[in-house]
Amino acid sequence: MIDKIGRSIEKALNIFSFETFVFYFAIAFLSLLIEWMAVGWEKSSLKKLVAFKKTVRTDFILFLLNAFKLYDLVTIVLSFGICHFITFLIHETIHLDLIVEIKNYYAELFILFMVSDIKTYFAHYLLHRTPSLWQLHEFHHSATEMCLFTRYRDHFVERALRRLLDIIPVVILGSTIQTYLIIQIVLEAHKLLVHSNIKSDWGLLGKYLIVSPAAHMIHHSNQPEHYDKNFGNTLIIWDRLFGTYHAPEPVEEMGIPNNNYNKKGFVWDTLLSLKNFKNSLFSKKNPTN
Ligand SMILES: [Zn+2]
Ligand SMILES: [Zn+2]
Repeated sequence: MIDKIGRSIEKALNIFSFETFVFYFAIAFLSLLIEWMAVGWEKSSLKKLVAFKKTVRTDFILFLLNAFKLYDLVTIVLSFGICHFITFLIHETIHLDLIVEIKNYYAELFILFMVSDIKTYFAHYLLHRTPSLWQLHEFHHSATEMCLFTRYRDHFVERALRRLLDIIPVVILGSTIQTYLIIQIVLEAHKLLVHSNIKSDWGLLGKYLIVSPAAHMIHHSNQPEHYDKNFGNTLIIWDRLFGTYHAPEPVEEMGIPNNNYNKKGFVWDTLLSLKNFKNSLFSKKNPTN
């Protein structure tokens, strides 16, 4: 056990991987190109990146931290490694490995994908509906300009806590959809594109099956009628099933009303969320969203 813990820590501290770097930069490059061709230079994330406003700067820093594998390291430091340790222990002790019972490769893929996507839907739902968790998730919603790299604007502690849910399908099924590189690439490109300025609703596909950029824009809108809508990660069907779907329509402004984000920079914003989270956990009366 001590050996395994040692290897896990070593893995977490192994901060640069050429494969990870290529994975992030190649997908970002292609997505930036697709967006530029679709919307032109004026509305593109590339132009926003060149203008380097504080909100876009934060998104880009988080992209770089992910690409250079530093994100997980900061996550461990800010969460004191507690979530990593708990998930490690669960992973080491429970192995149901139900996926090996399924002999068909495509059925296996389908189940892994559906379980992973519904789990992410509920995790996202909890982040919005639990007042203390919202203080962390607010960081993602504090973006005031849609940019492809807004996909990476997740608070470190939010990502640490999400591990506690992420481990559930792993211990039940014994594998994750992340095992399949090609699927990981497609899903990552989709996550970037829903944060693009393409703003398309993708027709019937976006209406009934997949989260479109226009649907995710509703999720980022600061108009009260759009709050807590379109939680879907890849599939929009969960929102349709559980009554959280809102059809795409023009959004006047994105972000959250009356907040102190995007003023003093990335580090300050990260600490602001953390402070709000801590206050919400320890105060008797939770602050409202
Ligand atoms: Zn959200
Ligand atoms: Zn988003």
